[in-house]
Amino acid sequence: MALCGRALQKRLASSRNILTPTAVCHKRQISEDPSPKYKASVQTVGHVLYTQEHFALKDSLRKIIDQEINPYVDKWEDEGQFPAHKIFKILGSAGFLGVNKPVEYGGLGLDFSFNVAVAEELGNINCGGIPMAIGVQSDMATPALARFGSAELKKEFLLPSIMGDKVACLGVSEIGAGSDVASIKTKAVRKGDEFIINGGKMWTTNGAQADWMCLLANTSDGPPHKNKSLICLPMDLPGIQIARKIDKLGMWSSDTVEVFFDDVRVPCKNVIGQEGMGFTYQMLQFQEERLWGVANILTTMENVVQATINYTRQRKIFQQPVLYHQVVHFRLAELQTEIELLRSLLYHCIALYIKGNDVTKLASMAKLKAGRLARELGDSCLQYWGGMGFTGDVLVSRFYRDSRLMSIGAGADEVMLSIICKYMDTLPKK
Ligand SMILES: Cc1cc2nc3c(=O)[nH]c(=O)nc-3n(C[C@H](O)[C@H](O)[C@H](O)COP(=O)(O)OP(=O)(O)OC[C@H]3O[C@@H](n4cnc5c(N)ncnc54)[C@H](O)[C@@H]3O)c2cc1C
Repeated sequence: MALCGRALQKRLASSRNILTPTAVCHKRQISEDPSPKYKASVQTVGHVLYTQEHFALKDSLRKIIDQEINPYVDKWEDEGQFPAHKIFKILGSAGFLGVNKPVEYGGLGLDFSFNVAVAEELGNINCGGIPMAIGVQSDMATPALARFGSAELKKEFLLPSIMGDKVACLGVSEIGAGSDVASIKTKAVRKGDEFIINGGKMWTTNGAQADWMCLLANTSDGPPHKNKSLICLPMDLPGIQIARKIDKLGMWSSDTVEVFFDDVRVPCKNVIGQEGMGFTYQMLQFQEERLWGVANILTTMENVVQATINYTRQRKIFQQPVLYHQVVHFRLAELQTEIELLRSLLYHCIALYIKGNDVTKLASMAKLKAGRLARELGDSCLQYWGGMGFTGDVLVSRFYRDSRLMSIGAGADEVMLSIICKYMDTLPKK
């Protein structure tokens, strides 16, 4: 049985300080033996970022994934949607939708490194769509609300989202504005103590099932970085219309919609934090979204490499396993090396982030590298599966389709490059 929220908190507390520094020294081994025993000792004793508490959290989540999610993934992929309310309730009851959120709103009150541990573990789900939908709920639509929202808003929207009673979605991108967030057109015009909202959002993950949206809208005519607000928008209000569910290359089990707003009235008190600060809040929120995405895809990349090793070891060509051809095992070793490099960058970034540093440059580098590596790895691994890689039945082909989004969503590669260049001060002067 997976641990429920309170039990999980207890177990996390009891696992604190289990290993003294002396114990760590005794247990540390230097070895070239890649046996599972050695791997386990490296994981639990010598980890640069994770403690016993992180591993307890991961173990507990893995049980839910194995029992409640993975057995149904193929079905949900075929159906083009997974039951978000059911799965979020299971995850919420066990504490996984608010690990770094305040305890008074149902969260576990831990630091962001625990979100990273959860994101990594969610990478063991056998598709990209469901982890992405969970990430939207826990790390993309709710960070600004948790940080800047009023107590009343947190009670109405954050608490039920953390508990898994409400499904959240994020409304930033529009038909005419994706990379260029500043140019969104959706307008919220103040009338008395209400905003009247007109416009529309595109690519809204969870949109078909969501109870509320964290909406970015223009609330004044000021300069584009200062005229926007984030608003908690219940999705059952009159004037909200789900125009269509979008047919996609990958991420099939995650529903993605286009939504229109026609004179939608929402109380002004639903603005998150300060009116006019929405762009800034969203940029902060993007940071956690990107770090979450990197952590998540790292595990799946590792699983795809392992699945490729397993397949090519038993598949014989020219009297020997495909794996024994040097070009194959060398290529897989290169990819594994790249994964480890990316993981080091991520952990370095997270270690700085939880100490309060600005990690915009490092997070953008990690997101850029994750997108590029996922494309390279999906292509290389799929190749070694031959015709089997071209079928819909194997993890590698699903990864090949799903992971293509990594270079586009949450800021395309070129957007990441622009941010990095800004920090390197290499952009042309205006
Ligand atoms: C499956 C899926 C789920 C999504 N979920 C959500 C969601 O829940 N909520 C939400 O708000 N959005 C969501 N998005 C939107 C996503 O964040 C955008 O697709 C992304 O930001 C890119 O915007 P765009 O599609 O409008 O591409 P555009 O902005 O039109 O960009 C097109 C291309 O231009 C290139 N480009 C961008 N900037 C530069 C530059 N400076 N220099 C040179 N080239 C550049 C890039 O290659 C980019 O891919 C989702 C998208 C998909 C596909």
